[in-house]
Amino acid sequence: MHKMLSHIDTWIFDLDLTLYTPDANIMAQVRDRIALFVEKHFNIGSDEAHQIRHTYWKKYGTTLGGLMAEHKVDPHGYLDFVHDVDMDLLRPDPDLRRQITSLPGRKLIFTNADAPYADRVLAARGLDQLFEDIFDIHRMQHVPKPAATSYDRLCAELDINPAQALFVEDSAHNLAPAKALGMTTIWVNHGTEADSGSTDEYVDLEIADLKDWLSSIHTMEGAI
Ligand SMILES: [Mg+2]
Repeated sequence: MHKMLSHIDTWIFDLDLTLYTPDANIMAQVRDRIALFVEKHFNIGSDEAHQIRHTYWKKYGTTLGGLMAEHKVDPHGYLDFVHDVDMDLLRPDPDLRRQITSLPGRKLIFTNADAPYADRVLAARGLDQLFEDIFDIHRMQHVPKPAATSYDRLCAELDINPAQALFVEDSAHNLAPAKALGMTTIWVNHGTEADSGSTDEYVDLEIADLKDWLSSIHTMEGAI
């Protein structure tokens, strides 16, 4: 695997649960804020709101997708509301910053969240001013990963050659379209994902921890 990395000139990172570990899971707060938004928007109870959140997430890939398609909800107001979470669980990680800094080539973020939230997460992790660009849900025209069109947009807008790009993600199914374009795919497997069959076809390498893996490729001579 490591020998395969010498051709990589673009390093693409998912944000949530990729650039921080599940013990600092601020996504649980985001999920609650999403349900609270639905609750207020429809003036319904919490259980029903969580049910709608889950139904839209299944059907559209995000709750926002359903709210926009079926109820014309404004994505900016929605995203501001649901991302208004406490970042205190996140701690700066100077070691991770060093590891990412020393990667040769461009570094990008590709996230289903929005850029203002991504900026806050990166700042809380001490990873600010490190990434060239954040390709967020607005720039995906609100069509989230794993829709293939969003990967096409990412590559076209940011002038990426997929054959020389590597994508790191904690959601295995988000790696399939990247692989189809010819990217090298790294799955950060936290062991929490429901078994969705074999990932062999689109996961080049499965890792348990991003920082450990980056450290291993930095110390292996000729890997990058
Ligand atoms: Mg993620």
